[in-house]
Amino acid sequence: VKNEDYQVLIEDMGNDGEGIGHVQGMTVFVKDAVVGDLAEVKIVKVKKNIAYGRLMKLITPSPYRVEPVCDKAKRCGGCTMQQVSYEQQLEYKWNKVKNCLQRIGKMENVEAIMEKPAYGMNNPFHYRNKAQFPVGRDKNGNVVIGFYAGRSHDIIDTESCAIGAPVNDKIVAIVRSFIEDNHISTYDEETGRGLVRHILIRVGFTTKEIMVCLVTNGNKLPHSEILIDELVKIDGMTSICLNVNMENTNRILGDKCITLWGQPYITDYIGDIKYQISPLSFYQVNPVQTNVLYNKALEYADLSGDETVWDMYCGIGTISLFLAQKAKKVYGVEIVPQAIDDARHNAEINGITNAEFFVGKAEEVVPDIYKKGGDGSHADIVVVDPPRKGCDQVLLDTLVHMAPERIVYVSCDPATLARDVKILQEKGYEAKKVAVVDQFCHSGHVECVTLLQRKNT
Ligand code: SAH
Repeated sequence: VKNEDYQVLIEDMGNDGEGIGHVQGMTVFVKDAVVGDLAEVKIVKVKKNIAYGRLMKLITPSPYRVEPVCDKAKRCGGCTMQQVSYEQQLEYKWNKVKNCLQRIGKMENVEAIMEKPAYGMNNPFHYRNKAQFPVGRDKNGNVVIGFYAGRSHDIIDTESCAIGAPVNDKIVAIVRSFIEDNHISTYDEETGRGLVRHILIRVGFTTKEIMVCLVTNGNKLPHSEILIDELVKIDGMTSICLNVNMENTNRILGDKCITLWGQPYITDYIGDIKYQISPLSFYQVNPVQTNVLYNKALEYADLSGDETVWDMYCGIGTISLFLAQKAKKVYGVEIVPQAIDDARHNAEINGITNAEFFVGKAEEVVPDIYKKGGDGSHADIVVVDPPRKGCDQVLLDTLVHMAPERIVYVSCDPATLARDVKILQEKGYEAKKVAVVDQFCHSGHVECVTLLQRKNT
């Protein structure tokens, strides 16, 4: 009943870090509650089978509760799980994969094939190599730079972020003073006016190279030389640029970049492979754990050097180039043309000549190549790393026809992974191993890699 208070035991957690419990058979979502809490909850919204509640009082706090490191954690939309101990976060993510594979994937005995525990970080803070801070003004005209509050575009002014690179704080402080001292306007989403929209910072964790990119609603930044003078004092500064976005849109970046100082890109390494990263490049945000994830994919692929490998949804070719070191030939396919430009370029700067890339939808390009026969129509190993919606059915059908010995499925959504694993298990493959690798510590996002082996038929 709406507006009534109930005692609720929080039994699980949702994707956005909310607690989940039950009241009289109905599932209740409670923001800020932690698995293991016994809480007094006021019901604020009731739908057919589910309800939403507000945490009024902790009757018995969960043993998994910890004090968030960041004082903005409760409001910021970024870290939704900082109030949960890191061990418990890993446990939650592991269970989430297990439950999906059991319930949606209809797999029995999943625990037997899941590596335990999830691969977490020794220090799950300051792990991100990329930050995007929205810039605006509060109602009194003061500059605000920070993060969007959960599910909104209200900017929470933030001086320090617990998961970003430590140097971000200094950069943000410099940009803040620059905007204030030089009376630079900031973008207003309502009116579409004002200049500075976002600060994008990228840091090469291996190379220590830094990029600062101001996203602007215009082609020029007045007094930019003053900003440059301050920023270049920071060790490792490599690239200072503008990204022009004049559209009234939720998209952060526009298509055009202007270099103000230094190079138009920074470089970084994952394992032995070097990558050039521009403001627009897609690049994994947690380089330490990406290395763990890709090594796991490589281990599952179990290459001897003679194999032909397909990397579906290859982005800038990160996995492809990783595998190319151990394979005879790697083919990659990706829908975004600029990403394929990056992939080809990254292959070149690493002297990798056995990787070939295609632009297009995997579900169109691959069936086409398969039907024509010849190069690329055969695969010994296939790696897929699809977006959250999972693999297209047409692609899965083609994979089954291509009949690779092993399919290594990298997934950022265990629900669609489980759906696709079920399909592949019905068509001659068997899931052999699963590893959960935490890429997004303190958020609810779950990443894992699954090995599927062709059954001997
Ligand atoms: N494997 C890459 C990126 C994976 S993210 C890495 O590790 O860096 C998923 C990628 O799939 C994105 O780059 C996205 O642009 C691409 N994508 C989305 N739909 C696609 C489709 N239908 N066909 C091919 N690529 C697609």
